[in-house]
Amino acid sequence: MAVVKADGYGHGMMPAARAALAGGATWLGVADMSEGLALRRAGITAPVLCLMAVGEPADAIAGGIDLTAGSAAFAAAVAAVAQRAGVPARLQLKADTGLGRGGATRADWPALVDAALAAQARGLVRVTGLWSHFACADMPGHPSVAAQLAAFADAVALAEKAGVTPEIRHIANTAAGLTVPESRLDLVRFGGAVYGLSTLPGGAPGWLRPAMTLRARLALVKRVPPGSGVSYGHRYVTARETRLGLVPLGYADGVPRAATGLPLVSARGRRWPVAGTVCMDQFVVDFGDEPVSEGEEVVLFGPGDDGEATAQEWGEALATISYDIATGIGGRVARVYR
Ligand SMILES: *Cc1c(COP(=O)(O)O)cnc(C)c1O
Repeated sequence: MAVVKADGYGHGMMPAARAALAGGATWLGVADMSEGLALRRAGITAPVLCLMAVGEPADAIAGGIDLTAGSAAFAAAVAAVAQRAGVPARLQLKADTGLGRGGATRADWPALVDAALAAQARGLVRVTGLWSHFACADMPGHPSVAAQLAAFADAVALAEKAGVTPEIRHIANTAAGLTVPESRLDLVRFGGAVYGLSTLPGGAPGWLRPAMTLRARLALVKRVPPGSGVSYGHRYVTARETRLGLVPLGYADGVPRAATGLPLVSARGRRWPVAGTVCMDQFVVDFGDEPVSEGEEVVLFGPGDDGEATAQEWGEALATISYDIATGIGGRVARVYR
């Protein structure tokens, strides 16, 4: 499964979905139903699993999207909607094996299985999958990984004994798919890996190439004297006469305001610090005596081939993860696909 939620992790959902299917993915994963419906409207007919119980089930059922139930109440609600619609719903049951987020706890699982099987017996739903999600798959060796795998095996055994015949059983995301082979089961829900990213320490293995490069062209270049305050609050003041370049990307485009001062911008084969406060639409770089010119390209992050920062490095520098950086890149930034 290629997970294409959150606009394909910021890369663009439709191009990501099409590329993943062309590359051999057999399922697509989305967070809410509206994302799944957007895939259907675009003509994508591949199986789609909606990972959260958020949206309008009637439309999703009509669109043949697999819904996820984490409670008996939601399974019953889906059955009621399917009855009104006259179309059986495809339903996957989610077990909370230790993440403590969505899904039915061990105590609530039998009731969920019973509700789903009752609806299936009435022809209102087809239980197509059983799944769960890890809490600490990106912490290699964390004891909760084995514990969750065992708890999921128990949940699957209980459901199958009760009569569920799932098409797929799945628990692994990128980190587990890459590092815990026994977690791969029938399908791996690869999100970050599809885009060359991972939440594992140090990021994705080298053979996974980050897909996204964020570039901009300097909108203005100017010489300024020593002692010039730069950007809001004058948090940066030039030490000597220098050349400033204006990068037309700001926090509204996903350049975190906390990047102020960090050496994350690449131009002319080296790194340059963000000079002063990152604004909504722009920020400034101090290029010293480097004769950069207006219209010249700078790179904020990319695959790292030419020493430019990666989304992984941005995440590490800003106390977050690469996914947070990539998904944050705003809609104003034109996506170009190669
Ligand atoms: C987002 C998500 C994934 C994908 O996770 P990655 O770490 O990006 O591979 C898988 N499963 C669920 C339930 C998710 O919400």
